[in-house]
Amino acid sequence: MGTDGQLPLRIRAAALSDIGLRRTNNEDAFLLDAEHRLFAVSDGMGGHSGGEIASALAVDSLRQALAALRDQDYLCKATVANRQTILQWLAQTVDSISRTIQLRAVAEPQLHGMGCTLDAVLLRDGGLFLAHVGDSRVYLLRQGTLYQLTEDHSFGQMLLKAGVLTQEEVAQHPQRNVLTRALGPFPNVQVDTAYVEVTSGDVILLCSDGLYNEVSPSQLQHLLEGDPSQAPAALIAAAREAGARDNVTALVFKIDECTVRRVVIGSALVLAALEQSSFFAGFSASELLRVQQIAGGRELAAGELLVEAGQQVAAFFLVVSGQLSIWRNGQQVGIANPGDPAGELSLSPEPTAVSVRADTPALVLEFSHAAVGALLHSDSVLAAKLNAAALKRLAHRLRNVVDVLARHREAGLIPAFGNE
Ligand code: CA
Repeated sequence: MGTDGQLPLRIRAAALSDIGLRRTNNEDAFLLDAEHRLFAVSDGMGGHSGGEIASALAVDSLRQALAALRDQDYLCKATVANRQTILQWLAQTVDSISRTIQLRAVAEPQLHGMGCTLDAVLLRDGGLFLAHVGDSRVYLLRQGTLYQLTEDHSFGQMLLKAGVLTQEEVAQHPQRNVLTRALGPFPNVQVDTAYVEVTSGDVILLCSDGLYNEVSPSQLQHLLEGDPSQAPAALIAAAREAGARDNVTALVFKIDECTVRRVVIGSALVLAALEQSSFFAGFSASELLRVQQIAGGRELAAGELLVEAGQQVAAFFLVVSGQLSIWRNGQQVGIANPGDPAGELSLSPEPTAVSVRADTPALVLEFSHAAVGALLHSDSVLAAKLNAAALKRLAHRLRNVVDVLARHREAGLIPAFGNE
């Protein structure tokens, strides 16, 4: 808290855009504002010069919008609520840029139907804020692993997620690159947002599909491991060597020095706990990341109480590391290991009936009910998945209760229901 003793955030950034070997114009655009820590890549589409105009308009509008960002609260105290303020600003800004592009297309009929993708990344202290629409991508290279932070909004990805086609079949599908979301075609657009804590050594890549369609993930990683200021040129050279059938844009920055020493949100440890959790089964990597934007990390000492029976708890918890025990009326009724929820899962404000205590030093993720509500409101895809998971969990618990009742009934411990 405060700025005392904080290390500076030092980054190196570079970007390049290339027309490629087959196209006659470059419809990609990027924004590299190292001073204000704002970065973006946009890939345009549309007849005449529509694609170029849409992508240029997108990154220009984003740059101009930055003056309206209110980030003082977050810089003062990096709470989940202050983080949400920045994420909501990003999402609203991207949504309003979609309207700006559409108005321009209405005003100039030859630009009718123009649109673009947009990936916008904002760095504040050790927090990386991301907004994403379309099929450009953002990658994070951390300690030898390349993470794709975004999920393509394309027809191919949709078929793959729905389990309709396999990866091989999607690769052959003629409509695989058709966008399911873009800025411009509609006045409003659903924006994916994410938040990741970054640390020294992290490398971030923003790129258009012209790069990742030509260059494999392992080659991307190899080229990102070199000097960040040379990386965009090296990435574009690799795409050209592979045929560069499309425009290619790469924006790279490396965190050389950072205020955050320990990363919780977006870390491999948290990802592993979420993957282990039955609650988040079937979530994609990008969805697991998006869920974390509303979570706070909480460290517990051995013996520390997380929840006390009788308290109103307006949050639910997920164990990331360590072990917790659950108590009711002085009796231990369960334990919670990494991936398990701890405490009440319901979103009702009833006082909790159980106490939860850390048996070992532990790290838990805290999801406040207010933040869950806001996320469900803003991300319909995640909302549907979380509702389905909650229903499945409820059905499972209900089945357990019915089983227990049936066993008690067989043993003659309780009378039968109905009019037997
Ligand atoms: Ca493209």
